[in-house]
Amino acid sequence: MHNQQIETKNDELENASPYEVLSWARRTFGEKLAIATSFQPTGIVTLHMMQRIAPKTPILTLDTGLLFPETQDLIDQLELRFNLHLRRIKPRQTPKQQARDYGDRLWERNPDRCCHIRKTIPLRDALAGFEAWITGLRRDQFAGRADTAIVSRDGRSGLVKIAPFANWTAEMVWRYIHSHDLPYNPLHDQGYPSIGCWPCTRAASADGDSRSGRWSNQSKTECGIHLPAPVELKPESIRV
Ligand code: SF4
Repeated sequence: MHNQQIETKNDELENASPYEVLSWARRTFGEKLAIATSFQPTGIVTLHMMQRIAPKTPILTLDTGLLFPETQDLIDQLELRFNLHLRRIKPRQTPKQQARDYGDRLWERNPDRCCHIRKTIPLRDALAGFEAWITGLRRDQFAGRADTAIVSRDGRSGLVKIAPFANWTAEMVWRYIHSHDLPYNPLHDQGYPSIGCWPCTRAASADGDSRSGRWSNQSKTECGIHLPAPVELKPESIRV
């Protein structure tokens, strides 16, 4: 799909429902379509809808080795319930190996490099061979995602990137989850609107947006997967 076709399709799908967008994606890309999810609420709705459209669609999830036990339990639960074709994508290094090479708690000193090692590179490698991927990005999550397109060219992988829920709100997602009685991460009920690796996730501040608990003591707002270009990494005095 070339860029002009992507722009045209993005315009056409602006007012389509997520189900319609997902159906179009499957018709268009067939087995070359993957879903990437960290099992946040929008991802769970995506998986539920895809059960009716194409239940064998490959699901990619980043197992950074630093997930909350509650997240691991939720992934196991949904994998069984939906019989997911799930690929747990692991970084080349375990957290212990990373600590040996980069020192303890790299996420505190150089979170961009930590995300690069544990998320960006593994996802890039996992997407090789696909033509398109689905993500749960929404425009209401925080200001940096306000311009999220439904269909775009992913600057990182070169693949077509599809955000079927870009114009849904958190309220719409939660209404869907409750009305279909879907499981979700219990940490959401403890004040965590967005849940990533345990070292970089806190409960959200009372006046914060839905991502305010992520990297809460850093200027960082994205792990890098959804940025249009690679972030410039701070040097580390160890091997890569
Ligand atoms: S979210 Fe934190 S712990 Fe996880 S990969 Fe990024 S910096 Fe490392």
